[in-house]
Parts: sequence; structure tokens; C-alpha cells
Amino acid sequence: MLHSSDIVAPDKRTPGVAQIDPVIFPVLDKLYTRRIQRLNTQAEALGENGEYFRFLTQLVQAQQQRLVHHPLGSDDAATILALLGHKHDHAYLQTSLLNIPYWQETYTTLVGQVAPMLPSAAGDKLAALSANKELLAHAAAHLLRLDYQLVDAGVAVVLWAALSTNWAQAVSLNQAQMQQPSTTQSAHCPCCNAPPVASLVLGGAREGLRYLQCSLCEVRWHRVRAVCVDCSSSGQIDHWTLDDAKSAIQIETCGDCTTYIKTFRLDYDPDLEAVADDLGSLSLDAAIEAEGFRRIGLNPFSFPA
Ligand SMILES: [Zn+2]
Ligand SMILES: [Zn+2]
Repeated sequence: MLHSSDIVAPDKRTPGVAQIDPVIFPVLDKLYTRRIQRLNTQAEALGENGEYFRFLTQLVQAQQQRLVHHPLGSDDAATILALLGHKHDHAYLQTSLLNIPYWQETYTTLVGQVAPMLPSAAGDKLAALSANKELLAHAAAHLLRLDYQLVDAGVAVVLWAALSTNWAQAVSLNQAQMQQPSTTQSAHCPCCNAPPVASLVLGGAREGLRYLQCSLCEVRWHRVRAVCVDCSSSGQIDHWTLDDAKSAIQIETCGDCTTYIKTFRLDYDPDLEAVADDLGSLSLDAAIEAEGFRRIGLNPFSFPA
């Protein structure tokens, strides 16, 4: 059952928050550790049915190992940076991606670590792509252009993970050159233009501030609360929970454009992690979609069909 929540407030500012950072860059190693913990928690809770969460735990561990043992070099970071901020056509993007070896190697490394956990047909599909760089870059260009439906769903999860590990490092290494406040009214990431996973209301020194978390480069960007992430209207914003109004996982709907985004109240539960906990709360999505709302967020572990 869905309940409307009455705890929504306009942008609450604690006196200690002197200045709002338009963008918060990820500390990737810590973020991966948190994600692994949350995926593990859900795998354990699901027991025998937690197979997919166990697979994802391995995938994020492989991303973390790649980050720690083979970080992105400045040359590849610069090439990735040159691709950001523009909408490229597919052919240009594919050619550019072919000239960046790091993400291709990352994909091959991830496949080597996760394929043994998969049925052989699925593992073979992943491996075949790592042996054919043209096809690999072709699929990667589809994903970066947000044409998910053109890529096999099983491939997309691993390929996006490889791209994400690279794009997140490239953005973090070049923080000074990233887009700042003027573009943060968009529903898409001001650094890489990918959609958000979800909305976060932060705790601690940034208590009450709302940020969106990028599904690709893991950056968080500020959006004021009580406005729609998609159409910026504030007339028909509602918040919903499955249980009580103080639930840390909520849904924000906009009656004007009939979209919704999931909101994680880190001020209520600082252990939540957007990607892992979004995947663990899909029943909330099913309930709100039954009411006619369309999801804005992208979960890179569950691409839309
Ligand atoms: Zn981004
Ligand atoms: Zn709207």
C-alpha cells in the first residue's frame, strides 16, 4: 500500500550550511565499498534468491580492484573529457571510443572476473564482445547515447560498469574543468549528461539538501527540493512511502508531467546507497507505476526493457 507522506518540506537549510556546493565529486573507493556492503546485505536477506545481488557484488568488487590497481591515466582521462558536454552522433562516438584503450581493458577485466559466475551462454556473449573491439565500441556508443534498448540487457550491465569506472575517474581527475552551477537545473548530470539514479536528501553538514546522483560518473548535483526534477514545476509534487511517513525510501511524483523519482533520505538512514538500495526497493516502483507515473531514474543494474 502506498501512503502519502506529510514530511516533505521545502529546502530546509540548517544554519550551519553556509554555501551549497553545486556538485559533489565521488570518493570512488569509498563509494564502491558502501555499494558492495549494501548489495551484500540484500543478497543475504534474499538467501537462495539473492543470486543477482551476489553477481553484482562481484561486479562492483571488480570495478574497485580496477580503480585501485590500475587507475585511469591522464591521457585517457583527457580523451574522455573531450567527449563530455556534447551530444555526439553514434559514428563519431564509436570512433572516439575505439581510441580509448582503458575502458576496453576495464571491460575485459570485469568480464574475466564475473563471467565464471554466469551461465555459459551469458558468459560467452560477454567474452565475444571483449574479443571484438569494433562491436564493443558500437555497443558502448549506444549506451552513452542512452539507447539502452539497442544493447543486450546482460551485456549492458557489465559494459556500463566498465564505462562508469572510467567516466567517474575522468570527471574526478578534472574537477576544476567540470560544469558548475548554471547547468544544475537539468534532470541530467551536469558533468556527463547521463540520467540520475535517484534523489538523495543528505544528512550531516549538508542536512536537508537534495542532490541527484549520476548513474554514470557518480557525481551528485544539487536540485532544490519541492520542484520536479524533470519539468521544474512545483505545483503537484507529492511524496509516497510504502509504510510509514518516516520511511527512508520514498517516491517523489510530479502530477504535471507524471514522472517520479525515488528519494533516499540519508538524513534518516545514512547507510543507504542509491544504486544498491534502489534495486532492493523495486516494489515501490511497481506500486507507483501502477498509478500511472513514469520513472526518470536509471539504475545501471536494471536497464529499462
Ligand atoms: Zn555524470
Ligand atoms: Zn514534472
